[in-house]
Amino acid sequence: MTDAAASTAAPTAASTDPQAILQQVFGYGSFRGAQAEIVDHVVAGGDALVLMPTGGGKSLCYQVPAIARHRAGRGVTVVVSPLIALMHDQVGALEEAGVHAAFLNSTLELADVQRIEREMMSGRLVLLYAAPERLTTPRMLAQLDSLHERGLLSLFAIDEAHCVSQWGHDFREDYLGLNVLHERYAGVPRIALTATADTHTRADIVDRLQLDEARLFISSFDRPNIRYRVVEKEDPRKQLLRFIADEHDGEAGIVYCQTRKKVDETAAWLATENVRALPYHAGLDAAVRQKHQDRFLREDAVVMVATIAFGMGIDKPDVRFVAHLDLPKNIEGYYQETGRAGRDGEPAEAWMAYGLADVVNQRRMIDESPAGDEFKRLQRGKLDALLALAEAHDCRRVRLLGYFGEHSQPCGNCDNCLSPPEVWDGTEAARKLLSCILRFGQHGRGPRSFGAGHLIDVLRGKATEKVAQYGHDSLSTFGIGADLAEPQWRSVLRQLVALGHVVSEGEYNTLALTDSARAVLKGEVPILLRVAREAPARGRKPRGGGTSGKAAGAPADLDAAAQARYEALRAWRSEVAREHNLPSYIVFSNATLAEMARRAPASLAELGEVGGVGEKKLEAYGREILRVLEAAP
Ligand code: ADP
Ligand code: ZN
Repeated sequence: MTDAAASTAAPTAASTDPQAILQQVFGYGSFRGAQAEIVDHVVAGGDALVLMPTGGGKSLCYQVPAIARHRAGRGVTVVVSPLIALMHDQVGALEEAGVHAAFLNSTLELADVQRIEREMMSGRLVLLYAAPERLTTPRMLAQLDSLHERGLLSLFAIDEAHCVSQWGHDFREDYLGLNVLHERYAGVPRIALTATADTHTRADIVDRLQLDEARLFISSFDRPNIRYRVVEKEDPRKQLLRFIADEHDGEAGIVYCQTRKKVDETAAWLATENVRALPYHAGLDAAVRQKHQDRFLREDAVVMVATIAFGMGIDKPDVRFVAHLDLPKNIEGYYQETGRAGRDGEPAEAWMAYGLADVVNQRRMIDESPAGDEFKRLQRGKLDALLALAEAHDCRRVRLLGYFGEHSQPCGNCDNCLSPPEVWDGTEAARKLLSCILRFGQHGRGPRSFGAGHLIDVLRGKATEKVAQYGHDSLSTFGIGADLAEPQWRSVLRQLVALGHVVSEGEYNTLALTDSARAVLKGEVPILLRVAREAPARGRKPRGGGTSGKAAGAPADLDAAAQARYEALRAWRSEVAREHNLPSYIVFSNATLAEMARRAPASLAELGEVGGVGEKKLEAYGREILRVLEAAP
């Protein structure tokens, strides 16, 4: 907390108009989408449930009301946030903008806790961030009681509200205790926010947080700047490396893997290939995890290889890609993970490599989980929806948005839109494959497995040892599929497993038919398959090849002089960020620096017109920036 921040915190004659606050404090000219409506509703004391995609701008939905209400003498806004790791940066960003904010968590020294509590109890603090378990301690509740009695408890903001739902993927026991806020402080408005859109989770939030009276704000979940791509797994590591090296060299990204072991191996391997990759998973020492996260946030071009333990609340805006080396559990997870790309609105990519083993693994994990039947049924349904997305021949975005109940038109920015896949009629092939599995079964059950490899050998008529051993060369299905190559058979099998007609059972991964296979065997179900191929995504974003000396990720539309100014501003920003121990994007975003470089303002007044330059930052940095701009070559 700086003195300057404290001085703006007491209720002053400053405007309580949201639009004025947006300009003056955050330096933005206009609200986005539903923001204005949400802000007005909350400033007026209404409860709200806000569903907005990652990067949609949720923070301003409670920060602007917090400031407006504080200026109107209503006191402190309490923000519930699940991740203590990120509170530091969020508070840092607010203080940079001249808003008096603080967090309370277990990392603080007693003296700091006492100082912050004093700031809170006096009502000077505008926003207090706290984890749910902290908020519901007797000590904290007693303090809130006192604030409430004095009319200085302004607003509750519950971030990542889906954590209250067991259906979601980030369930946090502590969130269940938050209904106390409503019961104890009935008159204090609450705004709950989440990027999780499915109806089940939404109903849970309303129910658990007792938000039935709250007004619901649902934004479009589209993230038009994210390009979706799914590739068939062949040599996944090589495919990943090519994706990173050819298309995202020198850019920040996240690679998700399912297991810790795979995270470690993949990160180590990428590092040998000159990618600045770091591992992140719950098995690493907390200090190592913290260090890697800090490097990811603060340095350019770090690739974080991680399990899903990494990411919630990561608000680094310039993540250029999210790659999945393994299939996520469901579309909610996929959408939330991929949503971490491109929060700044610039082009970004969601890339996933997908193969037969992924389908088999995910099905098995559900089957073998100790959960109840109803839960498993739900999980299977969710997995099926994700598999349909992975196998789709049509627009992936239309399917994604459709899953969240949103109707849309083909997007022109996914692999299937950019280069429509060729499809072939695999109905006959599917029948051959199914009847071959059926024959295996009739041939007596042994302890040996007849998995994908053997099945394809038999179909293609290959005389292997195993074929001879089991006499499978005498089956009527031996060699009936010689016309198709192995990758094609793999794709037929994968599709049949994805559709649930074939399962892979037991310790030996033995293939077996399900009840639904009968209709396919009879030829009653048409099976359309995409032609297997190495799909180079056409219409790649221009990579500025040839313009040597250009920093990776620099905006393409700057001329040489502006480019030089941009680089000078970035160097300056790095220094400031280091001094303040904050990620550089909190000082100013890339987009703001680019606009400064483009406009080359010559006065403080002109500089103040640049998006992202609020009054406090103009005052703190304005002169330095003008000097940097003037001195740039
Ligand atoms: P979310 O929490 O929904 O993922 P954030 O609140 O982090 O999104 O906002 C994403 C980015 O968009 C941030 O860099 C933020 O400063 C920017 N942003 C939000 N609202 C506006 C606006 N009205 N004008 C300009 N930029 C905005
Ligand atoms: Zn599309």
